[in-house]
Amino acid sequence: MSTKRIAGPEIEKLIQLLAKVPGLGPRSARRAALHMIKKKDQLMGPLAAALAEAVDKVTECSVCGNVDTVDPCSICTDPRRDDTTLIVVEDVSDLWALERAGAMNAKYHVLGGTLSPLDGIGPDDLNIKKLVDRIAEGGVSELILAVNATVEGQTTAHYITDQLSGFEVKVTRLAHGVPVGGELDYLDEGTLSAALRSRTNF
Ligand code: ZN
Repeated sequence: MSTKRIAGPEIEKLIQLLAKVPGLGPRSARRAALHMIKKKDQLMGPLAAALAEAVDKVTECSVCGNVDTVDPCSICTDPRRDDTTLIVVEDVSDLWALERAGAMNAKYHVLGGTLSPLDGIGPDDLNIKKLVDRIAEGGVSELILAVNATVEGQTTAHYITDQLSGFEVKVTRLAHGVPVGGELDYLDEGTLSAALRSRTNF
């Protein structure tokens, strides 16, 4: 059985590449490709230029592991941020989420994943040594472990806490509990019991 070609190889290649973008399957990739083709001047051209520029300039921050077009990144060099609080996240997407929330004016450290022995991911595969070095330099009084509430996330949090046991730094983690607007009846048991354990004074 052969699949019929519906477009030239350049368009087929575009669709195949778009289908690799998270959130886009083959169907959405075809729609996105067609949309861009129709908007060649307004969208496809500028997008191609933006991609080329990003490929050229994107780099990883040698201090915190964030992605940016400058190294050290814009967050690390921002003088208005609080140097004494460091928020540890698994991925840049988590950093972006926390920045969108806008609750803290701190600096970050991006681990680049979580410890996962089953997948062969150990401490050396993550940006942990640099984190310990940053703490050893002094100046950080609180480290907030903003890792996911998964087994891997919590394992990673414990490992980091162990590594920092010799330093004068307060290690905290995100509260686990009832989401804002959440109804108890709809929560899973894990979330509900975590919320009970981390109850606060009224
Ligand atoms: Zn940085």
